[in-house]
Amino acid sequence: MKYILVSGGVISGIGKGVIASSTGLLLKTLGLNVTAIKIDPYMNIDAGTMSPTEHGEVFVLDDGGEADLDLGNYERYLNVTLGRDNNITTGKIYREVIEKERRGDYLGKTVQVIPHVTDAIQDWVERVSQIPVDESGVSPDVCIIELGGTVGDIESAPFVEAMRQFQFRVGVDNFALIHVSLVPAIHGELKTKPTQASIRDLRGLGLTPDLIACRCPAPLPDAVSQKISMFCHVATDQVLAVHDVSSLYHVPLLLKDQGLVNYLQKRLKLADIPRDNKRL
Ligand code: ADP
Repeated sequence: MKYILVSGGVISGIGKGVIASSTGLLLKTLGLNVTAIKIDPYMNIDAGTMSPTEHGEVFVLDDGGEADLDLGNYERYLNVTLGRDNNITTGKIYREVIEKERRGDYLGKTVQVIPHVTDAIQDWVERVSQIPVDESGVSPDVCIIELGGTVGDIESAPFVEAMRQFQFRVGVDNFALIHVSLVPAIHGELKTKPTQASIRDLRGLGLTPDLIACRCPAPLPDAVSQKISMFCHVATDQVLAVHDVSSLYHVPLLLKDQGLVNYLQKRLKLADIPRDNKRL
């Protein structure tokens, strides 16, 4: 199983969901079976009790699970059917840990965020990523994990730490990270500083970006990509520009044209995954 974490920096709402779905879609074109998990670092058990005017519409899954609209994006882009467990919230993780504590499963231990909450997050991701999500009934090859919110928030800290540990649990060849950042234009000039600061935060928390997806108003000039590459300590082919497009269905093509598939193929050794021709 290969895991691709999509995290975000600077501000929320810059297109993590679209980039996560588009990455999954591109991997499906290689004949891989792809699933997705959305992490929402809020205390609600699910989106069902949240105001649609504040949070957006609730997306109801086949099993009745009430989730964020991103789950609908994944189903549409990936042509899969997801369940309530494909949406992890802080509320669900804490409920599970507290129920275990009440049963006495921790054998008298002090229950702590590390390791008990972070272990619960990793166990959940490992378990749910194996669940078949289409009629083929085959266990997925790749799991896209989208971490909601922004890296550096108090709310997402246990999830960031869980993912830091997870890269070692599953092995470096099985875990890649796409960090989505913002490159705003101020008085017509594209600014890279927010991205530099966000990558510094990310590295400080123990996560290393494999790809930096820069949401920007217009295609990035080479000089700006090179600057991000230099200041963020990645190669230029690891900097992808995702500019504003008129249709979200252009985003997969934008990513493909900049080499996302080739990069992930090499980085995650995707060619080594045995492929079942029936899936193609
Ligand atoms: P996040 O997951 O970071 O909160 P989303 O993927 O939900 O962000 O996207 C937030 C909004 O931005 C959505 O309304 C989406 O349609 C829009 N959006 C995302 N990427 C682009 C893009 N490249 N061009 C234009 N609009 C975009």
